[in-house]
Amino acid sequence: MACVVQVGTGSGGMAVLDLVGRDARINSVLLIEPDIYKPHNVVRHYFAPDRCGQSKVDLAANWLQERRPDLLIETIKADLCDPSNAEIIDYMIMRADIGICAVDNDKAKMHWDWLMRKHGKPWTLGEVLAGGIGGFVHMFVPGGPCYGCVMSHLQRNVKTNDSPAPDYSAPNHSLPEVSIPASMASIHAIASIHALATLALLGDEDARGWDATTHLIPLRGVPGIFERALASIRLPFSKLAGCLQCTTQTSEGDLEAAFAAINAGAIHR
Ligand SMILES: [Zn+2]
Repeated sequence: MACVVQVGTGSGGMAVLDLVGRDARINSVLLIEPDIYKPHNVVRHYFAPDRCGQSKVDLAANWLQERRPDLLIETIKADLCDPSNAEIIDYMIMRADIGICAVDNDKAKMHWDWLMRKHGKPWTLGEVLAGGIGGFVHMFVPGGPCYGCVMSHLQRNVKTNDSPAPDYSAPNHSLPEVSIPASMASIHAIASIHALATLALLGDEDARGWDATTHLIPLRGVPGIFERALASIRLPFSKLAGCLQCTTQTSEGDLEAAFAAINAGAIHR
């Protein structure tokens, strides 16, 4: 039996949670999310408009508990990066076997990466590209490439490409949720693969073929970007020499330096 810790229960995070949380091998779920359910969330979320004003993490926990009464669920309404929550979040992660990251800003992703490495936990991340044209699903394991390594590789690849394609891997690409016009179908397509990657961490049959850190999944053909939908691209990244995030970072305070260096394109293979 396994314990999962998840940060983020927005539209994508909720779908991943629903799929992973129904697996009989999961017996415990720990959730971290600070936000309130708002009217603009309704179009792409599980919950009815009359739930607006309630905590997203409470809605998520109740949804899962109704379907898995046997599941142990703990929640914290907290910002992942707020130092005042560090102790309880550390305690949650310490008890978990695997982590799920479903936040949409890079600073939080890097903070999560740091926490996962600090506690030696494998984790997964799903990222839907703007417009819902596709997405990334990443699987991180202790000792392997970190989120900083992957982000640097992706940025480097874009920089060496003369095409005018949007830089979806840019660390500053995060946008307010309402301004990314990804459909619920695109969000759920990537969330489903994210859930499969997470369940692969449980091993055995599920893990077969999941030997790359990152998979890029086009959901639509877009001239200059994706030739065709569903021609998934496997990106077997290696650990990046000189990555400030995972090779030289010694404390939480170094996150800022790592983030700035990656933003500036200062890290190269
Ligand atoms: Zn790294």
